[in-house]
Amino acid sequence: MKKKVKSKKKKYKLSYQKIVVFLLIIIFVLIIYNIISNLNKENESIQTASLIDNEALKDIETSSYANISRYIVYGTHLNLEGDIEFNENTSIENAGIVVKNVSGEEIAIDTDNTYDDNLLSFSTLKEINTGLDLESLEVTDYYILLKVEFENNEIKYYSLSNDTEYGDIDYYTLTRNNSNNKIDISFSRMGNIPVLSLNITTVDELPEDVYDVVIDPGHGGADGGASSGDYIESDIVLDCAYELKVQLEEIGLKVLVTREEDEIAEEFKGEDIYGENGRVTMANESHAKILVSLHLNSNESDFVSGGVEVYAAPNSDLTLAKMFADNIVEIANTDYSQNESYKEEEGVYVRTIEVGQYNSSRFIFDSIAYLFIIREIGGIATGAYANGNNSVYSENIYRDSNVGVEGYLIELGYINVDEDLRNILRNRELYMKAITDSINDFYGLDYNN
Ligand SMILES: [Zn+2]
Repeated sequence: MKKKVKSKKKKYKLSYQKIVVFLLIIIFVLIIYNIISNLNKENESIQTASLIDNEALKDIETSSYANISRYIVYGTHLNLEGDIEFNENTSIENAGIVVKNVSGEEIAIDTDNTYDDNLLSFSTLKEINTGLDLESLEVTDYYILLKVEFENNEIKYYSLSNDTEYGDIDYYTLTRNNSNNKIDISFSRMGNIPVLSLNITTVDELPEDVYDVVIDPGHGGADGGASSGDYIESDIVLDCAYELKVQLEEIGLKVLVTREEDEIAEEFKGEDIYGENGRVTMANESHAKILVSLHLNSNESDFVSGGVEVYAAPNSDLTLAKMFADNIVEIANTDYSQNESYKEEEGVYVRTIEVGQYNSSRFIFDSIAYLFIIREIGGIATGAYANGNNSVYSENIYRDSNVGVEGYLIELGYINVDEDLRNILRNRELYMKAITDSINDFYGLDYNN
């Protein structure tokens, strides 16, 4: 009997609990439903409001948009390539990429177009280091659009849809007056419209793994580079790199050096430039905007004069390269090299070398691997392609990156030309001051002592 009562009580208690739980679940579901539907309403109203209030998107075409097939940040610039199809017999007068802020003010980007079979193809990529200057933008929101002027003087704006394999990019501007902006470059949708937007905010400091500049002292470890008597290129450029780091930090920049003491370098950094701690990997992981690789030249017999040579990437604007060369000649009181091979301007050189290209009996790669750094840190902008198929070299895992570091390789002078060697050993600070001044002026860092 006792037992029976107990079990009855238990039964009653159980169903009471069930009712309470059931009610609680219903209340919970109702609360969640309410929250979600309110959120949706808010989103809808925000989106509708932004389309109406947002001057940048006010006049945008809603019936069609352009497809972006290439989307690249190289150094401090963003570039785009894509196309859009029009109805038959549409006549186009002009077209170009524009960047509009939310007040409707627009910046036009130099764009090359072709129009064929009603397909308009456009590209801002003629030079990889020009295009939209990410350093010049104000702290606000921007939208990137295609502006088309038709033959009947009608002007239309088209939004851009991402047709690439790449996602959003977080870009950090160079450090100016202890301050950086973060630019969130993202493709998203606003209602039915695909949009490419730039959301810019100020950050207190750069994330730990983000640098402004990378300095690459050439060679290292078992690879000493060029030499003359007891003087070894890898040692001299390492001293130069330390000096340059100090000077660049004095103008407020955050600097990474790809190698330090030679004893450490010997293990991995001399040969395996694509290894975990290799110079190419370090530069690619640095999120830096610019890399300066320091070297000394040497020549066998052809000419006895020395001088500076600055190497830059193909298809690039050479203004900064020219500044490096001019400032070094002026400030360090040296000369432009008389070397005419691959010369673009006085002191400025552009040279590409294929992976696996042979020079008589051996890979050119073995002897002048340094020039590859410009290509292999630029991702798809510079055509990085060390894919590990060459048994001597491992794979550059960043070769398909759509974010690249803008690289310059500077041959400060000729180690086997006495005048050059003496000048570099005595006036290292002046050579590095020339590089520091160039970066300060070119990027408008406006650092004043
Ligand atoms: Zn070298």
